Amino acid sequence: MDIEKLVRPNIKSLKPYSSARSLFTGNQAMLLDANENAFDLFGGSLNRYPDPLQSELKNKLAELKGVTPKNIFLGNGSDEAIDLLLRIFCQPGTDEVILCPPTYGMYEVMANIHGANIKKVLLSPDFQLRPDEILNQVNSSSRLLFLCSPNNPTGNLLISEHILELLGKFPSIVIVDEAYGDFNAVSWANKVGQFPNLVVLQTLSKAWGLAGLRLGMAIASEEIVQYLNAVKYPYNISRLNQTAALSALQSPEKMNEAVDLLNSERNELAKRLLQLSIVERVFPSDANFILVKFRNSSAVFEFLRKQNIIVRDRSKEPLCDNCLRLSIGRPEENQALFEALKSSD
Ligand SMILES: *Cc1c(COP(=O)(O)O)cnc(C)c1O
Repeated sequence: MDIEKLVRPNIKSLKPYSSARSLFTGNQAMLLDANENAFDLFGGSLNRYPDPLQSELKNKLAELKGVTPKNIFLGNGSDEAIDLLLRIFCQPGTDEVILCPPTYGMYEVMANIHGANIKKVLLSPDFQLRPDEILNQVNSSSRLLFLCSPNNPTGNLLISEHILELLGKFPSIVIVDEAYGDFNAVSWANKVGQFPNLVVLQTLSKAWGLAGLRLGMAIASEEIVQYLNAVKYPYNISRLNQTAALSALQSPEKMNEAVDLLNSERNELAKRLLQLSIVERVFPSDANFILVKFRNSSAVFEFLRKQNIIVRDRSKEPLCDNCLRLSIGRPEENQALFEALKSSD
């Protein structure tokens, strides 16, 4: 696949901003190039611009993900990568993206911000892709196909054969959002060498417990990563952010322990919810939340809100009639949620 042909002409011919520090690799140089304050007034070298390409952090992530640093783009959350992919590939007013609802709401918001046309192909009733229906919607303006696995808000992994078929037949970029990938052992990240049109999104916001940090990534072919780097803000990841992320990544065992606990809490809560008569259905989940169909979701939502328990109402989403999305909390929170639901049963 010729990726360059899919890129907007203005981006193809873009001469990116060359940041002062991108040529600098050594440690000893006298830095008189970037009009920074020479005095480290507040400590932590915050008087200096951070590494624009986050080399140290990418080296560590590459090791953890089994890819090369050149396959990684880092953004202010994976939401930044979604934003930049639209800028690179979608000519406003002309080009199209395909979404598969019910899914993550930011794809549609970002596509609207960029003036991309949106085509929607609903998931099947068991929340799986319908590859034939998706491929039927393809035309010469199709640019991005957004897939989310495990899907938010439904929680299920998408069937691999469907993703594989779409990677082969969709004539443009296929984005696989793995925001919840660390909660299961399935990832497409190490397939980016095989599929030049594949972009895998991951984040430190969920399993790594760093939503407040704002660090997400796109894992893709070197060619796509180069375009992402060309359009991003030069210093998009702050020095504080890079330092904190690097420090957290030294302790993957903390992430793994939390994932094990949250997964077992999820399975336990799912089992217990089935005992309640207000619950009609608990959908299977490979993430740190479960989608639950109630007999009357708005009554349950209101009841919980009055008890100061906030959950996500997804009942207006297609295929999600009477559904609430429950994030898995700490054990005592899950217990309190269950007790509250039981008391209303
Ligand atoms: C939470 C979430 C993200 C968020 O990413 P950030 O890295 O925090 O911007 C992306 N995709 C999906 C499906 C999510 O649920």
